[in-house]
Amino acid sequence: MGRRLAGSAGDRAAGPWGKALLESLGFVNVRLEPVPVKVWERVAESGKVVAPYPQPLALAALGGSVGTPKEGLEAEVVEVESLEALEVLVKASPDACRGKIVFFNRKMDRDGGMNGYGAVVPIRGRGASRAAAAGAVGVLIRSVGTDSNRLPHTGAMGYEAGVPKVPAAAVSIPDADLLSRLIARGKPVRVRFTLDCGDRPDAVSANVVGEVRGRERPDEVVVVSGHLDSWDLGTGAIDDGAGCGIAIEAARLIGASPRRPRRTVRVVLFANEENGLAGGRTYASAHEVELPRHAAAFEADSGAGASTGCSWNAGPDAAAVVAEIARLLEPLKATLVRNGGAGGADVSPLLKFGVPLFGLVQDSSAYFDFHHTANDTLDKVDRKTLDQATAAMAALVYAVADLPEALPLIPEAQRTRRRE
Ligand SMILES: [Zn+2]
Repeated sequence: MGRRLAGSAGDRAAGPWGKALLESLGFVNVRLEPVPVKVWERVAESGKVVAPYPQPLALAALGGSVGTPKEGLEAEVVEVESLEALEVLVKASPDACRGKIVFFNRKMDRDGGMNGYGAVVPIRGRGASRAAAAGAVGVLIRSVGTDSNRLPHTGAMGYEAGVPKVPAAAVSIPDADLLSRLIARGKPVRVRFTLDCGDRPDAVSANVVGEVRGRERPDEVVVVSGHLDSWDLGTGAIDDGAGCGIAIEAARLIGASPRRPRRTVRVVLFANEENGLAGGRTYASAHEVELPRHAAAFEADSGAGASTGCSWNAGPDAAAVVAEIARLLEPLKATLVRNGGAGGADVSPLLKFGVPLFGLVQDSSAYFDFHHTANDTLDKVDRKTLDQATAAMAALVYAVADLPEALPLIPEAQRTRRRE
């Protein structure tokens, strides 16, 4: 069904496909749970440097952006590194961005940390409104990625109330470098870009759910999940086809084991992670009465790389039990055990209910080369590392679902929502 942005034809086909797959694999209680979603559509886009010399730019509208006028939007470009740098510039020179295109050019590091995805991505989310508040007419950002291909990385953005909505697009990393070099020459650099995109009427998508019944406490649940939707530039094979594959196959292996775990293992293929998180939010509210019986939730949403271990978020008393469970991954050489920061975006709405969250830590050193680009396609998935990650997930989920005593909940003080 190809790309699966919420509300698109591919997304509409994905739910029934997932349901039929889970049924064919022998899961029980297989169902589609409706998820109301906002819909945004990309039709066409193009851009070029106009001055000092004509040069095409590889760019993509950010998800949620308004379109430009049909003839495009042309203005001089002002470069800033970050949201903070924009503030500093505007304070010093209040009209610096008026009538211009603000170009955010913040580099992302492959090694994460201070310049990792989490640090850079707020520019994508909030840059348009921050620039518009300073009088900008449009926004370009350096793609949030680590490759050197001339392929832009899309991703979600949002508008603040009370600020004009200006068109926002990501330029490929080489094009960001080109723009920056031109601007450094000191003469005005003008860009023209055209985005044909925008919001469409709301639609209903679906979370796909299936279960392996627990042998002793079937009403207690361990969720293992991925998200079924994807961005629209590639086919969403690594984000998050791979995660769905890991979740489904881990649960299938558990169901096929000679002795099922004590608790029910529930596969959830979430809708609309990328462009609104409606799938995760709807799951948490639709299942609220049942959440006290959620023993844990896992999500695989880091591509198809080998697992290097696990992360967890539960009551501090869980440390010894988690360490014991994590030892199951030693034969897979996945020995890292990290406390905190666990759980993907879709399971993050469970945090405020204290549901213990787990993450499969994976080698994601190449993940952001392809993430949200036209290059997110099946050839990037290595069967060997995918199998290893699946084995790790199966072992972790089985062990948690089979614990004689449930893990302690996440303490009240640590239930603040993580970045989505
Ligand atoms: Zn994802």
